[in-house]
Amino acid sequence: MTEHRQERVVRAAERPSRLVILGHPVAHSLSPVFQNAALLETAIPLVYDREDVAPDGLADALRRLAAEGAGGNITIPHKEAATALVARCTPVALRTGAVNTFWTEQGDLIGHNTDVDGAAATIRALLPVDSSAAGDTSVVLLGAGGSAAATLVALHSLGYHRLTIVARTTARAHALSERLSIPAEIVPPDAIERVVRRAGLVINATPIGLRDDALPMPVAFLPARCAVFDLVYRRGLTPWIAAVREAGHRAEDGLRMLVEQGASAFETWFDVPAPRETMWGALDAAPPTHGSP
Ligand code: NAP
Repeated sequence: MTEHRQERVVRAAERPSRLVILGHPVAHSLSPVFQNAALLETAIPLVYDREDVAPDGLADALRRLAAEGAGGNITIPHKEAATALVARCTPVALRTGAVNTFWTEQGDLIGHNTDVDGAAATIRALLPVDSSAAGDTSVVLLGAGGSAAATLVALHSLGYHRLTIVARTTARAHALSERLSIPAEIVPPDAIERVVRRAGLVINATPIGLRDDALPMPVAFLPARCAVFDLVYRRGLTPWIAAVREAGHRAEDGLRMLVEQGASAFETWFDVPAPRETMWGALDAAPPTHGSP
């Protein structure tokens, strides 16, 4: 028996009356850029807005959006809190403990998580292997926060189970592995060279490189043919992705995850294929930014 588990396809029973991303801050969000392009391309007569909502205003904002029959996305710092404020979570939102996508059914908010789809699509693009080859591949994940949770669920669903988490707060990584029931070796940062030397895929789920040119780890630690996924994205490449590509490694920054979580949300709301090329084109034309969805 294989441990490979495929998450089932989720579709909203009712189309949203309007779309909005809730975050704090949210002005930097690129989601309106590519979601509005996708709405235009598919002739869906809706606009995708931003709403800056402080943590103490989240419950009221969600109640109002439910009354409006709205849908949308939820970003930092509200993803975890939203799980307790929606009427129902999909299995993947329950599993990750985070809601990044929502919609309304009969006046109730449904919370879902498409970050897992975004991470899985990026990993599949980097390493297009079947689950038995995935099972032989050693993966090193840096970080143990919210995006590490989505990434671990994605890795598990694709059949990766030789997993090592490098975390400066190892207790947080142990708690994450236990909560998700996904076994992983857990090591502190001073063990990074030893675990990376045998890796086929290294993933950065820390914010290192978001606001400065720090690298999550030295490029020289990577073995030949090791693929790299940096969840961080900036206009241009992150310093780590630029450096590892220069050294000949296959590598993706977080932009593909951003677009794919958005494409998955779009398909969940509207049950039509997301126009991914249009979404990428809108991002290419967008002003410089960095951050998360
Ligand atoms: P989070 O919940 O705050 O977790 C961050 C993790 O990184 C924690 O384990 C933290 O360790 C660790 N960390 C932070 N600074 C570090 C440092 N200087 N050295 C070593 N470890 C450090 O954040 P998150 O939501 O997982 O997001 C992490 C990053 O992923 C974001 O900055 C964002 O750029 C990116 N992201 C991208 C997407 C996408 O669609 N591409 C989606 C979500 C997030 P401690 O527990 O010790 O603090």
